[in-house]
Amino acid sequence: DARLTEAEILADPVAKIAAVGGARHPSIPLPIDLFRPGHRNSGGIDLSDISTLERTRSAVNVPVARETGDTQAADVKAAVSRAQAAFGEWSKRPVAERAAILERLADLLEEERDRLMAILVQEAFKTIPDAIGEVREAADFCRYYAGEARARLQPVELPGPTGERNTLHMDGRGVWATVAPWNFPLAIFLGQTVAALVTGNTVVAKPAPQTPEIARAAVALAHRAGVPADALVLVTGGPEVGQALTEDARVMGVAFTGSTATAKRIARTLVADDDRPIVPLIAETGGINAMIVDSTALPEQVVADVVTSSFRSAGQRCSALRLLLVQEEVADGVIAMLTGAMETLKLGPTGDPATDVGPVIDRAAYDKLMAYRQQAGARVIKTLDAPADGLFVPPTLVRLDRIEDLDREWFGPILHVATWAAGTLSETIARVNAKGYGLTMGLHSRIARAVEVAEAEAEVGNLYVNRSMIGAVVGSQPFGGEGLSGTGPKAGGPHYLYRFCAERAVSVDT
Ligand code: GLU
Repeated sequence: DARLTEAEILADPVAKIAAVGGARHPSIPLPIDLFRPGHRNSGGIDLSDISTLERTRSAVNVPVARETGDTQAADVKAAVSRAQAAFGEWSKRPVAERAAILERLADLLEEERDRLMAILVQEAFKTIPDAIGEVREAADFCRYYAGEARARLQPVELPGPTGERNTLHMDGRGVWATVAPWNFPLAIFLGQTVAALVTGNTVVAKPAPQTPEIARAAVALAHRAGVPADALVLVTGGPEVGQALTEDARVMGVAFTGSTATAKRIARTLVADDDRPIVPLIAETGGINAMIVDSTALPEQVVADVVTSSFRSAGQRCSALRLLLVQEEVADGVIAMLTGAMETLKLGPTGDPATDVGPVIDRAAYDKLMAYRQQAGARVIKTLDAPADGLFVPPTLVRLDRIEDLDREWFGPILHVATWAAGTLSETIARVNAKGYGLTMGLHSRIARAVEVAEAEAEVGNLYVNRSMIGAVVGSQPFGGEGLSGTGPKAGGPHYLYRFCAERAVSVDT
């Protein structure tokens, strides 16, 4: 019986936990077990096999050519015109045909995996395991949305009195703008884009200014898979290009992943013109994500999951753990074990398979994070040395006196830790909720009641219990948050495609 009381577990934690099958990690799997061979989404690459490892290492280090030159803001209109002209033909194609194109794209992503990984490693500073995961996730999005489109986009007959025929149609809305982040420049860039395409929309896609090359590669593959050139048009560049795109009154929807501030700017742009149609905004933004650990949790498992959640991808995931909240009684032990685990992390170039933590994305991010780390001063419990050359922000642990002391998202490998008192789980969750974000939350506990409380009270899009808080799997953990973290649609979930559709009900009296 997994429903043990806290008193029972504290009486004999090891035996009880073993009895409920809770000990997933008998010892700390460090250096961190970033890559899980045999996982159903492992992408078929087993890095524990030495010949695969060597082949992968040489593939990701083949130098990638970079194109120069961005779209001028003045040319964005022409891109929207092309996508608008392509809408009629594309939207009328049978759903099954659009779905088949997505499946072809998934096949091409896998065939071209090595080249895509090389771009991810060199342009976006992805570690090799992260690059593998990202190509896999991009292909998963394509296959998942293809299946969902077939299953969900057919016209549905609805009931009515005799003589009345009611039908609900799912149609494309027109041109969508998809605006993507640099931290998942392939998976999220394509995920948003293929969701819009398979529902019958055409797309003008804008990658983050830091990662145009992987977007060029992805769009070229989509065209090869059968998406007409004008049904998916790429524009590259900075905020002025994004602004020109979202300002264009012919854009009938925006799917955006990035910062809360930019999401709000887009929302304001979309309503600024009184004559413009009211159009949907799908926004997935950041979070101040907390993990709550109680005294019944297995410290070894907690530490492994904290290290993964906070420091994998150099903390540059919107799902990443920012605020670790440990029950007072066990805090010293957990923190001691965590600082020890941090010491085993290897900082280095992303093309080296031994690297756990690579550089952050650019100089601006580096300067911001390093200034904050400096300012944290004596509150820094643990930090590491960084290689001298490169934008390495060392994994850092910062002590907080109060949960409220963290009031913004630091998008990098900086973790904060505070404690909470026994008997205050609900209150602790409420204090995290009060920050206004709602993306991910973690709980480590073996108490069934604690899990129930978190399920009922955590105001987040993704709650993770007794595991890490990152790496949402397409189709299993639909991803996206609420409040300051986004408008709510769940990427990789069964309801996502509806958000891209115009739903049209037709009633015919016969
Ligand atoms: N889906 C990713 C995860 O679960 C995070 C996406 C993001 O950082 O935007 O880790």
